[in-house]
Amino acid sequence: MTSIDPTTLLDWTYRLSNVGYIVAAVLFLMALSGLSKPETARRGNSLGIAGMGVAVIVAIFQALVTSATKPETHLSPLVTLILIAVAMGLGGVFGIQRARKVAMTGMPELIALFNGLVGLGAIFIGFNSYIFAEEVPADAQAFHLGEVYVGIFIGAVTFTGSIVAGLKLSEKIKGAPLLLPGRNILNVVILLVTVAGLGVFIATDNGSVAWGCLVAVTVLGLFLGWHLVVAIGGGDMPVVVSIMNSYSGWAAAFTGLMLGNTLLIITGALVGSSGAYLSYIMCQAMNRSFANVILGGFGAEADSSASALEGTHTEVNHEDTAEILRAADKILIAPGYGMAVAQAQYAVADLVRNLRADGKEVIFGIHPVAGRLPGHMNVLLAEAKVPYDVVLELDEVNDDFDSVDVVLVIGANDTVNPIAEQPGSPIAGMPVLKVWEAGRVIVLKRSIGSGYSGVQNPLFFNENTDMLIGDAKSSIDALNRELTSQKVTV
Ligand code: NDP
Repeated sequence: MTSIDPTTLLDWTYRLSNVGYIVAAVLFLMALSGLSKPETARRGNSLGIAGMGVAVIVAIFQALVTSATKPETHLSPLVTLILIAVAMGLGGVFGIQRARKVAMTGMPELIALFNGLVGLGAIFIGFNSYIFAEEVPADAQAFHLGEVYVGIFIGAVTFTGSIVAGLKLSEKIKGAPLLLPGRNILNVVILLVTVAGLGVFIATDNGSVAWGCLVAVTVLGLFLGWHLVVAIGGGDMPVVVSIMNSYSGWAAAFTGLMLGNTLLIITGALVGSSGAYLSYIMCQAMNRSFANVILGGFGAEADSSASALEGTHTEVNHEDTAEILRAADKILIAPGYGMAVAQAQYAVADLVRNLRADGKEVIFGIHPVAGRLPGHMNVLLAEAKVPYDVVLELDEVNDDFDSVDVVLVIGANDTVNPIAEQPGSPIAGMPVLKVWEAGRVIVLKRSIGSGYSGVQNPLFFNENTDMLIGDAKSSIDALNRELTSQKVTV
């Protein structure tokens, strides 16, 4: 029997792996396209899982063949397999345990944690690929060193930035921005020193000076990540998480360059660009610019204005509300973060069924940043099987509120705050659902307190607004009982 030459085997393995990586990349693209619509999101998720499955199998295959054909520089295939199994086992147990426990409202924190881990991974791989650099052609050496340096820097910024964002979101540290004097100058100086360090690192290539540069860029990156994010108010954290998601993608792309892994480059670029685009959409929905979010400070002044508004609100109970709904023809539901907290989506779906059974027209008006992550409300409503065709976007409903008889605001606050239309208010310019233009507004929440931005809401004091005070799920359950019992009585 003729044995295969190791170089040929390795060559074939890399060719086959590239085919596998192309399949995985196509599956990732199809996954992203599927995730863009609620109707196809489940399929998108399955395609993403399939793509990751292909990627993992190909990467393990490649690692095993490489270790078998290069015994002089690599661990044995068995040890390689055991190490991979241990790493995947530990990561899998940790990931499953965290994902099982997390409530939908805690998703941004979980994403922040995962982003941070990608950043940490990029730092480790950067150091590893500097120490064990092999087979880098002399004319590509400078490029390789650049990848290592930039990859470590982005990874370090992502790591501490994401950890601070996660801690702020979970309220383990104060959400208020920490504004050091001259912070923007400090950031610019750090960037300039980092760029200068890159030149020195590439020029010296080896020895204590190069090592000094690597350690310095790690420390600077870690500090910059922390400093950038502590200066941003808690209200902007979901945008920061999305920006960090983008950074983690770029860190992964640099890791791919260091390891010569095509799929990691493609996937990193996909995550990097989609994260950046998502951040852009979120900023637009809040009428903020990237620079405004990144330069921080927003939210410091919002707290002081929170108690400035005064007025009298009127309250209704669930019997009154049922009566009002019975008299209405067209009803719009504007859900927000409170619906997610109360887990009221199933009760809301029942309410929709009850009202539609009574011949009412019921639609939803979804604000792009209602809740705590884009699409939050759509996911909850889809979970409760609310038909997609009655779930409309802000732009689709905002000019037609005068044709709506009753708006039910369920746990939303900032996204229906008319103060956004007042120049100079802390949320001035943020597009909001103009619910006050409807015939009547009923707000379901537990108090007349402010929303996430800390800005008081004058909607509650309007003549055509009534408050149904209480936990959203309990209120809607009571409303459903009232509506069905009225039907039985009639
Ligand atoms: P808000 O966060 O403004 O308000 C939610 C309201 O829900 C609170 O005022 C609270 O009032 C009420 N609530 C909480 N728990 C319950 C409960 N169990 N039952 C009934 N009501 C409850 O919500 P919105 O969705 O209107 O706005 C989202 C905010 O998040 C915006 O400021 C947005 O800019 C911000 N944001 C969102 C992002 C996203 O991607 N979705 C990204 C970045 C920021 P009370 O305590 O009185 O009950």
